[in-house]
Amino acid sequence: MVADRGRAIGGRMASRRLRDTGTAFDGRVVDYGASYFTVSNPGFRTVVEEMITAGVVRPWTDTFHVHTEGTMVGVKTGPMRYAAPAGLRSVVEHLAQSLSTIVTETHIERIDITDAGVRADHFEAQHVALCMPQPQANRLVPDGLLPTVGITWEPVIAVTLVFDEQQWMDIDGVFVNDDPVITWIADDGKRRGDDAPVLVAHVNPVFAAGHLEDPSGVLPNVIAATRRVLGIEALPSWSWAHRWSLARPIAALDEEFWMHPELPVSLAGDAWAGGPRVEAAWLSGRALGQALSQT
Ligand SMILES: Cc1cc2nc3c(=O)[nH]c(=O)nc-3n(C[C@H](O)[C@H](O)[C@H](O)COP(=O)(O)OP(=O)(O)OC[C@H]3O[C@@H](n4cnc5c(N)ncnc54)[C@H](O)[C@@H]3O)c2cc1C
Repeated sequence: MVADRGRAIGGRMASRRLRDTGTAFDGRVVDYGASYFTVSNPGFRTVVEEMITAGVVRPWTDTFHVHTEGTMVGVKTGPMRYAAPAGLRSVVEHLAQSLSTIVTETHIERIDITDAGVRADHFEAQHVALCMPQPQANRLVPDGLLPTVGITWEPVIAVTLVFDEQQWMDIDGVFVNDDPVITWIADDGKRRGDDAPVLVAHVNPVFAAGHLEDPSGVLPNVIAATRRVLGIEALPSWSWAHRWSLARPIAALDEEFWMHPELPVSLAGDAWAGGPRVEAAWLSGRALGQALSQT
């Protein structure tokens, strides 16, 4: 059984439907968590190729613009970045199709070890796999049960900007270097493939850290920085800031997962398997699943 506190599964591969924006784009889905994912592991590649064939995933781009010290300095080509026409959350939903029981809007408060195995609130199980940022897992279990891995997590505030029309040069995304406000802008229309004039900007972790109690407070600075980087004269018609207090671990462990040597508790996610990215979370979960199926 999978229990997730979210309204839908997907976690940081987060997509939402735009509502009450006062624009023509209500009903459209926007990605406001992970921007894309990359593929290097052969097993993950096989899964991604199956999802491309199924129309769930699309190769997006291998080239982004680079903006440094106030100037668009050129482009940078790297690995292929993959996106999803229906939003990245749909990738998780597709992969979870074969799972028999998924309960959402279920915030687990406490894990207790029992004679028969483990209890997560009122759910009884033989084993619990905590597949979330470890600071969230630590809140559920007695002190000392989980390992101290000493990984710091950095915050991001993701800002969605909906414009009436595209008034910027054709870009897929821009790495923004040396800016005190933003680090990255994705063109969500290009990413999703419908060319809607929707941008998602990520706030610099230092600036984000000062606004975690008031994420909307970043909006004026982020709008100004995005318009400056892309030379946009118009104001967005709608904007929205989402806080990710634990967006990414700033380092990750090479081990694929952790399992308690005696008790039925384990950890997996993007702080393992060389993370911190979608592919690492998949590798970590797969390795833990295989290990559990052999116990
Ligand atoms: C803004 C942002 C940008 C990113 N950009 C990229 C990128 O471009 N490329 C890339 O590869 N990766 C990117 N990432 C990282 C990527 O999203 C993660 O590596 C990956 O999604 C992690 O998956 P996970 O399953 O380990 O954790 P999560 O996605 O965090 O899943 C954990 C789940 O546990 C649930 N949960 C937590 N606590 C409880 C509880 N008490 N009870 C019940 N449920 C609970 C949560 O609701 C969540 O669904 C980005 C992340 C963010 C936030």
